[in-house]
Amino acid sequence: MSVEQAPVQRADFDQVMVPNYAPAAFIPVRGQGSRVWDQAGRELIDFAGGIAVNVLGHAHPALVGALTEQASKLWHVSNVFTNEPALRLAHKLIDATFAERVFFCNSGAEANEAAFKLARRVAFDRFGTEKYEIIAALNSFHGRTLFTVNVGGQSKYSDGFGPKITGITHVPYNDLAALKAAVSDKTCAVVLEPIQGEGGVLPAELAYLQGARELCDANDALLVFDEVQTGMGRSGHLFAYQHYGVTPDILTSAKSLGGGFPIAAMLTTEALAKHLVVGTHGTTYGGNPLACAVAEAVIDVINTPHVLVGVNAKHEQFKARLQQIGTQYGIFSEVRGLGLLIGCVLSDAFKGRAKDVFNAAEKENLMVLQAGPDVVRFAPSLVVEEADINEGLDRFERAVKTLTQA
Ligand SMILES: *Cc1c(COP(=O)(O)O)cnc(C)c1O
Repeated sequence: MSVEQAPVQRADFDQVMVPNYAPAAFIPVRGQGSRVWDQAGRELIDFAGGIAVNVLGHAHPALVGALTEQASKLWHVSNVFTNEPALRLAHKLIDATFAERVFFCNSGAEANEAAFKLARRVAFDRFGTEKYEIIAALNSFHGRTLFTVNVGGQSKYSDGFGPKITGITHVPYNDLAALKAAVSDKTCAVVLEPIQGEGGVLPAELAYLQGARELCDANDALLVFDEVQTGMGRSGHLFAYQHYGVTPDILTSAKSLGGGFPIAAMLTTEALAKHLVVGTHGTTYGGNPLACAVAEAVIDVINTPHVLVGVNAKHEQFKARLQQIGTQYGIFSEVRGLGLLIGCVLSDAFKGRAKDVFNAAEKENLMVLQAGPDVVRFAPSLVVEEADINEGLDRFERAVKTLTQA
């Protein structure tokens, strides 16, 4: 029997929530595949995917099945005990990647926090107290905990929270000479997103990642790839490092890993993992059976040639149409990205107006994303249907037409 709920509206947000977000004017209440319905029954097409999270769309039967089956069995036992879904999921991630060991947690920030702590601990154990410097890229994003905002290369996220975490250097992305100049025997890790997501859907150049790998090897530093946004099939490979053929020492995954259920993972080798001995790190919820059961279903569906080949085909469909729209209306200077992480860079005439594009799309019943003020980002479900892509891009073209002819 369902209990009668008091009605709530968007206006309630400003009354009851901390004002750190500015959500859209409507409230989504239901989703199916790549369609979402709001409180008024309005149907929208979802090319935002919950910010690269809803990797199989909404209410995918395999995920609903895994969640409901596990929900009636066992939700949580803490890490005082292990559990079957966590062990199965770890096996699947290890079988599919370079990794030999897995640490589960609940968010991208936590996975990166674990990665940075592991890198510093390995350097401490192997080389002593002086090797703790982390080199990261300007404009990168690694999460919102104190450590991760400090490693992230956007000071607007780390200013005003007291003393900064020291031993972190930022260098321009895709600039191998700058990275080379920054790396030293004090460097414990170089941290990179294979594609800068929040920073504007900016893919790394292959030579940059290869060069970073060589610099790390030459300086006894670890290469950390933050694949929180690029992982779990989004690039057309299970992880973007597999697209580039450059293997990190530590990889972090979150967002799409749970397809909408919170879970994250840090993947690494056995030789590095052994430095996190009992008691050095932990989490209460991390790797709980409910989250792991869902993520297992996600990887089972995604890590198949059918889905991954489909991502590349859908990329071409998006890219061709977005380039046509960009040229026809003079709104984009470039369409970039891999797989189903696509960024449309606004032309000079529309610089700074990604939010206006977001709003115009919403008026046409389409959900898209920004990646900063100058890039419109698409991160749809990896199994979005061709008809939904065409209909969504029709809506997008109408939005662009209205905006550019206003
Ligand atoms: C979203 C994101 C994070 C942070 O993930 P949360 O789950 O929000 O903590 C970290 N790194 C990258 C590259 C991301 O895109």
